[in-house]
Amino acid sequence: MNRINEIAFCGYCHDQSLLKASSSGGMARVLIDYYLRNEALVYCAVFANNYHEAKYVRIENVKEKPDIPGSIYFHAKITREIIDAFIEDLGNKKRILIIGLPCDIALFYGICKKENGQSELVLFVDLICHGTIPKTIYDSYLAYIEKRAKASIIKFSFRYKKAGYWLPVYMHAAFENGKVLERQLYLTELGRAYELCLNEGCYYCKYKGDDQRCSDITIGDYRLGNRESEGYNSCGTSLILPHTNKGIEALNCLKGTFVYSRIDKSHAIGSNVSYFESTMETKSRIQFKKNFKESGLLIAVRRSFSLKEYLIWLMPDWVRYSKLLKYILLFRSHFR
Ligand SMILES: Cc1cc2nc3c(=O)[nH]c(=O)nc-3n(C[C@H](O)[C@H](O)[C@H](O)COP(=O)(O)OP(=O)(O)OC[C@H]3O[C@@H](n4cnc5c(N)ncnc54)[C@H](O)[C@@H]3O)c2cc1C
Ligand code: SF4
Repeated sequence: MNRINEIAFCGYCHDQSLLKASSSGGMARVLIDYYLRNEALVYCAVFANNYHEAKYVRIENVKEKPDIPGSIYFHAKITREIIDAFIEDLGNKKRILIIGLPCDIALFYGICKKENGQSELVLFVDLICHGTIPKTIYDSYLAYIEKRAKASIIKFSFRYKKAGYWLPVYMHAAFENGKVLERQLYLTELGRAYELCLNEGCYYCKYKGDDQRCSDITIGDYRLGNRESEGYNSCGTSLILPHTNKGIEALNCLKGTFVYSRIDKSHAIGSNVSYFESTMETKSRIQFKKNFKESGLLIAVRRSFSLKEYLIWLMPDWVRYSKLLKYILLFRSHFR
């Protein structure tokens, strides 16, 4: 594969409802729609089993399209059935778009090579990836919030755009009895666990940087812009890194639906370390995992803070960001 590694764009999709539903600028969603409307097949991950699981699915047309999720921070299953379908589609010389985590894309790319599939018919798109949490952590968190709400989950999002704003990142859960839980992701037990506990392989990920990836395009979050910058939208902006001519051609096809702006690549990825570096496994991460295995999620989260940090972390947002809290802390430090 001839690699083109110096080009970068930021951008967002024109369609406000697609943009709001996506995790950043909606690039994945726009690609999926474009491929389905042009008689190609799509393979991507979706939630399954009432948000308790995630798996890769094969989508044949727009009418059949399931609810495309934003970022799911645990690994989506790749079933034998999906691999067989992919091999069959390669054999039948179908045009395919496949979007997923870099390690998953490497697996599908490897299958394509092994089966002598025509890789020019497949557009491989991977995400910039910080890593995934063990599924057991997600299961514990869902069991905890379902127990608290006394009802089952009917909708879940790791990255909800509250009031249409991309940042800060909110987690959103809706329950059967009408209750809704909405909190900044990193102020929930799930977000804390995502900061502190990834799957083993994510600390030594092989699919970082430009050349180790098997994709034609990489997409991620673009957080460097502001209201005045071209290609930036406060409802979400994608960072788009094409690696091949096939990738650039696919992006050209989206011009009517997506607003692009060329940006400086080294600057853009310089602030997005997950593009080129694995997360480091630190002592506190190892301790968190041990505490989680021995005592469960809530205790592992509690032990990951000092008492003062924990009390601040527990506070509702209106207290945390109020001037009152600042004055109390200032007053206390003055008289210590
Ligand atoms: C685990 C994980 C870690 C990430 N870490 C970073 C990071 O550190 N820095 C960064 O810039 N971006 C990161 N991203 C990517 C970013 O959050 C957005 O997913 C990306 O910018 C695409 O947004 P979008 O608006 O274009 O796509 P959307 O319209 O939001 O679509 C999301 C697409 O991602 C797919 N997807 C979601 N979760 C999974 C999953 N678990 N496995 C396979 N496919 C999945 C969906 O099927 C969909 O096609 C991460 C994403 C994930 C899933
Ligand atoms: S960090 Fe690497 S190994 Fe971990 S989920 Fe992402 S791509 Fe896969």
